[in-house]
Parts: sequence; structure tokens; C-alpha cells
Amino acid sequence: MEIKYFDHAATTAVDKKVLETMIPYFSENYGNPSSLYSIGKTNKEIITIYRMKIANILNCKVNEIYFTSCGSESDNLILKGIAFANKNYGNHIITTQIEHPAILETCKYLEKFGFRVTYLKPNSNGIIDINELERSITRNTILISVMFANNEIGTIQPIKEIGEIAKKYKIYFHTDAVQAMGNINIDVKKYNIGALSMSAHKFYGPKGVGVAYINENIPFIRIQDGGHQEKNKRAGTENVAGIVGTGKALELAKEGLNKYNDHIRKLRDFYVHEMQKRISYIKINGDMEKRLSGNANICFSGVDGGKLLAELDEKGICASSGSACSAGLLNPSHVLLAIGVPTRLARSSLRITFGRENTLEDTRYLIDNVEEIVNRLRNG
Ligand SMILES: *Cc1c(COP(=O)(O)O)cnc(C)c1O
Repeated sequence: MEIKYFDHAATTAVDKKVLETMIPYFSENYGNPSSLYSIGKTNKEIITIYRMKIANILNCKVNEIYFTSCGSESDNLILKGIAFANKNYGNHIITTQIEHPAILETCKYLEKFGFRVTYLKPNSNGIIDINELERSITRNTILISVMFANNEIGTIQPIKEIGEIAKKYKIYFHTDAVQAMGNINIDVKKYNIGALSMSAHKFYGPKGVGVAYINENIPFIRIQDGGHQEKNKRAGTENVAGIVGTGKALELAKEGLNKYNDHIRKLRDFYVHEMQKRISYIKINGDMEKRLSGNANICFSGVDGGKLLAELDEKGICASSGSACSAGLLNPSHVLLAIGVPTRLARSSLRITFGRENTLEDTRYLIDNVEEIVNRLRNG
């Protein structure tokens, strides 16, 4: 059976052009960038070239880019690294209730070390209140960490306004841009962003490569000890092929940004419109304007989200509920609960995230199947 993939917020296929750029760095140009002979030194130069490409896209300096192993590691490095380096100035961190676990769990960890964390509640559309953010600032606040775009409901936060507040109060501002990168042009200067996380596999790059941008004026300690790689801030032999793939994937995403966004927005809007037309008692989650173009998150009242996913899988359709499954029971998503969706309704959610390679035909197949399965499960 042919696979119809609608889970691009979970991961994406590596673009063929990205793969081509990566291949020589596995078995031909395999030198360790720290070595002193030429095949190693050449790879050191290659890394610098790709670091520059990424810095240019973000509008930051080359020395502000650090390569890690994933988005989660970038989040950990930035939050723990900045918090521990600045604990003499204050112990308060502001974040939101709808962050990815890589942020929420890291904040919980920091709480064990005496940090105090404010978790802002978003409104029912999934957007945080900028005035509430400003009111929660104390003289102990050292860091604000608010995601650029949400991975479950796709909502985009008021990043520019948050950046202005952070600047006004001289607080460091980090954004988890793992979902936004590749879908939105991000200029860290324009938005006053001090630190940012991204992950290559979310924008048609390889899995296992993350990037952390950290402004050179922000003190932070390293989390992974060992060798002197990444300016002594992140030990470990560089993933040369992965770094090359990340830079290439980001370039392709930037080049095609408008084209891809127009394409996936059309498919997403068509899907949402058909759902509204064909199926009753549904709830569309998250603001429809301030939203990633490829994301649709819908609750189908009375339907078990886990069963819905299993039935879709039978039809070759890959989708997500946005919730983690544990012990066979779908835990309602913390994001949906935070925006006020009742627990039972939250268990009926379906997250569809469109991508470049999806077609109108795929989308029709999706729509027909969701309609048929929802009706069947409701009557069963
Ligand atoms: C996927 C994701 C992460 C984690 O990235 P990994 O590379 O899978 O560790 C972090 N934050 C958000 C918003 C994500 O969507």
C-alpha cells in the first residue's frame, strides 16, 4: 500500500538534493575536523562554510551558531546553559504551558536546582498574552523562553513583541523555533532573539542534527563535557555530513518558502473546509490566522483519537493525535488542555500536518477516509 504522509510536524523525509550533498561526507571525505592532516582540515573548513550559510539565514554572526545532536539538545543547552551561568543575577524563568517537552522537562529539572518558572497560559486560540508576560517579570527574571510556533496546533506566538519586552527589561529571550524554521523567515536581529533552537529533520534535513544560535553577549555554560569542539561549548566530533545536510536543507527551504507555504496552505484550507462541510460536531483548535500554513488540528467529538489513527494507518495514512500514547490509552495533549479543551474532547484530536510532497489527490484521499472513519466510529 502506498503511504500518504501527513505528519510533517513529527519529521520529514530528507530532500534528495540534501542527501546528495551529504553522501560524500560519509565514506570519501570522512576526516575528523579536529585532525591536522588535510582531509580533516578540509572538513573543518566545510563546517565553517555551512555555519556561515546558517548564520546568514538567521542574520547572526558565524560564532553564534553551535551544532548539536537534535532540537531537544539545543533546548537543553540553551536553557540549562544560560540558567546556570546567570544564576547569580536571578533565578526566575518565564515560559509557556504549551512548550514542547524538551522545554517543559528542562524547566522542571531547573526547578530542582532552585530556579522558579512561570508557565504562561495561552488564550483559547493558543496565543499567549503579551501583557501577562510583562506583568510576570520580576527583578529576578533572567530568561524568557517562548516557542515560535507550536508543534501540535501550529499557532505562532507574538515573537516580535516578546523580543521588545525582553529588550526593555534586559532579559535574555530564547525561542524554540523547531517548527517555525523552514516555514517562516526568521531574522534574530529584527525579533530581538538572543537564543534559538532548530532541528534539521523538521525541514527536510537529516535526523540527529540540531542547531543552537546563542548571541555572543549571553553567558552560558556547556552541558556536554569533553573535547574542545564548538568553541569548547559542546564536546563531540562534529557530524560533518549532518551539518552539510542541515545547511543545504535550510537553503532549499528559504529559496522555496513562499511556493511551499502557498502549496501547503491550499491543501490545509481545503481539508479544513471539507471537514467543516462534511462532519458535524467538530472543533478546530488554534488560531486560524496566526498559524503555520500546513497545520490542521481538529477534535471529532465522541471519537477515540487512538482508534482514529489506527484506522487511518490501515489506509496507509500517517497522522498524529498530538498526544502521547501511554499504556494503550491516549493521554490528552497538554497543549489542548492548556487552551481549555475538555479532557474527553481532547482525546478525539487529529493533527494533520501537510508537506511539500503532498498533492491535492492525497488530500482528497485523506478527506474521504477521515469522513468515513469518523462516521463509522461514531456509529459503532
Ligand atoms: C520536534 C520538536 C523538538 C525536538 O526536536 P528533536 O530534534 O526531535 O529533538 C523541540 N521543539 C519542538 C517545537 C519540536 O517540534
